[in-house]
Amino acid sequence: MPTIRNIVILTGAGISAESGIDTFRSEGGLWERHRVEDVATPEAFARDPDLVLRFYDMRRAAIQTKQPNAAHRALARLDAAWPGDLLIVTQNVDDLHERGGARRVLHMHGEHLNAWCTACDARSPWTAPLLHRPPCPACGTSALRPDIVWFGEMPYRMDEIHAALRQADLFVSIGTSGAVYPAAGFVRGARDLGIPTLELNLEHSKGSAWFDETRLGPATEVVPAWVDQMLASV
Ligand code: NAD
Repeated sequence: MPTIRNIVILTGAGISAESGIDTFRSEGGLWERHRVEDVATPEAFARDPDLVLRFYDMRRAAIQTKQPNAAHRALARLDAAWPGDLLIVTQNVDDLHERGGARRVLHMHGEHLNAWCTACDARSPWTAPLLHRPPCPACGTSALRPDIVWFGEMPYRMDEIHAALRQADLFVSIGTSGAVYPAAGFVRGARDLGIPTLELNLEHSKGSAWFDETRLGPATEVVPAWVDQMLASV
């Protein structure tokens, strides 16, 4: 195998599952008992803002009671010790990578613990409910929404992600179903660039066939094992 210096790691809901945060596509296609179209689209927010704000208030409160698991902590160890470039691109909107100790994290789908003012465009750290329409700390307008990329909206910082992929010597995907684009397409982009690709997941994902190698198992087992292997090579 060629020398690996730069690594891009994509994470999804599966890495937080063992921390007690529901993944997206549970049985019956419902997410926390809601249809995605009713809570995670700009149209849903326009139609019934109270329903959407209440849903995200619940999830924002819930993630603050969860703790990072061994997989988050293992990636933090890798982040701290890896001498080359490393970027953890997460589709997750929880903050468990950061609380697990990782620093080089990019939230492409936004963050539960941020509010976005649709009047002045400021992002503010936010842990409280939004349902009662609190004022924006920056401009005072009551126009805050969750800083979450909903279906039909553009993910954040795509230029940075593509730039990191172009420099990468390894692409690793952890706990993601390969169902949500554009993240699901990164593996094909990596292959086109000739970068080795590795998948760590509980089961084969939709994109498994695109990976050079797939290691199946719970994230809290397969991720620390992979990190140990990488750190042994430094
Ligand atoms: P997904 O729910 O579509 O897929 C989760 C994947 O993780 C599945 O392939 C499943 O087999 C795997 N998985 C489940 N338990 C696992 C475990 N213990 N160890 C390893 N893998 C496990 O999630 P996705 O692909 O990330 O896409 C869902 C979208 O929903 C994302 O855009 C994300 O923004 C959002 N979401 C985020 C969170 C969060 O922030 N924690 C939670 C739910 C959904």
